[in-house]
Amino acid sequence: MTLIKQLTLKDTINVLATYDFKHCYGLEFETVINSDAKIYPCFMLWNKPEFLIGDLTKQSFDEIWRSDRRREVLNRIYYDYDIRKCGMNSCRQGHISEALSLIKHPPMHRNFL
Ligand code: SF4
Repeated sequence: MTLIKQLTLKDTINVLATYDFKHCYGLEFETVINSDAKIYPCFMLWNKPEFLIGDLTKQSFDEIWRSDRRREVLNRIYYDYDIRKCGMNSCRQGHISEALSLIKHPPMHRNFL
């Protein structure tokens, strides 16, 4: 007898659909480098000056990645930006965010849907 039910794709979609993702955790794992060497947090926020993190013609990637400016932009997205508006289903970092959110806030009885 199987005690733990395998989650089907439909089950997973139902869990995700009812979960209220508020923060983007995926931004810590990937970024976007524009053809003009400017770096933005993600594709959806690409080319928006208010989300510009740095410029590779002026700083190294390491300097930009560890910069106060990157932290300030990411904090602004984390605390002030409603990621439900940004269509996170179509971004890769959004999928990272979903997975990490489910680990951080596991739904009750996840294995017994
Ligand atoms: S969830 Fe939104 S803020 Fe986060 S990476 Fe995707 S588009 Fe950007």
